[in-house]
Amino acid sequence: MEWRCLVCGRKFSGEEKPLACPACGVENDFIIPDSQYTRPSGRMSEISRASFKQALDLEVEATRLYHEAAAKAKNEGDEVTGIFFDALAKNEFGHQKAIKFQLGCRKKVE
Ligand SMILES: [Zn+2]
Repeated sequence: MEWRCLVCGRKFSGEEKPLACPACGVENDFIIPDSQYTRPSGRMSEISRASFKQALDLEVEATRLYHEAAAKAKNEGDEVTGIFFDALAKNEFGHQKAIKFQLGCRKKVE
């Protein structure tokens, strides 16, 4: 069966609905059968667009910080902390993809 994430737009296959989106990590309340999916549309105000861009900047910075923290921990032999920060970085990267998806498919208010 094909599934689709409403937050990031990622399509993926699987017998069962996953517990979370494999791309952005959102919980499965936001995952639907792909056959029912319609791409987000409608207009996005400039204020909302600015909020998305501000959120994207935060996600990019958080991803960088978590990668750096993971590398530092691993350099010190703390593998558990390294894995923890790697997981957080992956999650933040998923958020980046979701925000870029929303910015890419919604029209500006003219
Ligand atoms: Zn997703």
